[in-house]
Amino acid sequence: MSEPNETRPAIQDDIRVSEQQESKSGTEAFSRRTFLGVGSAGLATAALTSLVVDAQERGNIAKGEQDHSASNPGPENKPLLDENPNSNFPPPTDYGNIIPVWYSFDLTHMRIQEGGWTNQVTQTVLPSSTDIAGVRMRLTAGSFRELHWHTSDEWAYMLYGNARVTVLNPDGTIFIGDVGKGDLWYFPAGFPHSIQGLGPDGTEFMLIFNQGDFSEDNTFLISDWVAHTPPSVLSRNFGLPESALRKLPTNDLYIFPADLPESLAQDMARDGVSSLPKYTWKLGDMAPKSRTRGGEIRVADSHSFVAAKNISGAVATIKPGGLREMHWHPNASEWQYYISGKGRMTVVLPHGARTMDFNANDVGFVPRIAGHYIENTGDTDLQVLEVFATGDFQEISLNNWIRRMPPEMAMAHLNLDANAISKISADPGIYILPR
Ligand code: MN
Ligand code: MN
Repeated sequence: MSEPNETRPAIQDDIRVSEQQESKSGTEAFSRRTFLGVGSAGLATAALTSLVVDAQERGNIAKGEQDHSASNPGPENKPLLDENPNSNFPPPTDYGNIIPVWYSFDLTHMRIQEGGWTNQVTQTVLPSSTDIAGVRMRLTAGSFRELHWHTSDEWAYMLYGNARVTVLNPDGTIFIGDVGKGDLWYFPAGFPHSIQGLGPDGTEFMLIFNQGDFSEDNTFLISDWVAHTPPSVLSRNFGLPESALRKLPTNDLYIFPADLPESLAQDMARDGVSSLPKYTWKLGDMAPKSRTRGGEIRVADSHSFVAAKNISGAVATIKPGGLREMHWHPNASEWQYYISGKGRMTVVLPHGARTMDFNANDVGFVPRIAGHYIENTGDTDLQVLEVFATGDFQEISLNNWIRRMPPEMAMAHLNLDANAISKISADPGIYILPR
């Protein structure tokens, strides 16, 4: 056996990006027809498609699309249809009905207070996501998300600006750190924490909770506790006269304006700022897990961002025409936030396949072990945040599986010849395929 040739077939030299190489991306319009294999993706796509839907059925669907059958004389929501062409008029390989895999933060209401706002996509609006909920938040410069704690772990991705976070450990030490765009933080369940917007224009971030029915309106707030404790108990507990406690808040603060904090160096110089765990992480400083002419992906899980025991995440940047390869995750469902660009994802389950369009600020969901892939259908980079309720990021590549089994097995199942199989990538770390 010539192992090097097995693991590095020629095709990968074309896919992998070298330091000098740059993507030659055009703006070839992406259509359902390229999806069907008429475009450059070519014969392999067509061969696999035929396994799912036989030619007869595909012919019937195609005929229905071309004649009067697909006409809709009734009402329609044109802006929504224009934004989601594949959702309403699916690729012919879609079938059956599966659980919801799409929602958008732009369909949620914002809770606005002086100092910022928040909105959330939880199990209430995306019922299939039972183990992850997402909350977006904006804090103006100086404003706080009030000191609080909650039952789930919290993982965050910074979308904009700068923030200071603090978290208290059970051993009495406190962590204080500053984060900027693209950075992460992680707070273990039950650990009390705060977030404050910094200059020049505060911050905006995406919070991820490993509990689908989490609600940002249902956290333990320090103001709630003091407001609902008799003054005599507060006095004894704090060792302060009741007269010193007259100005304690009597209502939720939740989000509220405040002065900008001292410099990080000054805050760090205080007693007890000696947290051993590091609760912030610079995702952008990590080497990409994979970089190809189709894009790149950075992954942070507990093997790198050690404090993040129960939640992991990745940011995939998919170039125009690029394909986040056919794969699944054996140990966790995937909750996605589309940061920028336009894409289309297909999710395959044993009883159905569903394609949806995604735009910036949309949420995607993939149940554990469900097959899926994402295509960049726009003419700018598609950036997707992928998060998992596990500290151990795992991915299974369909290409890798086909190549790792004895070729006779693959031939018997897929009717591909040995030459075709040898051209499929055996690399489990490609992640994004170029146009
Ligand atoms: Mn929190
Ligand atoms: Mn995935």
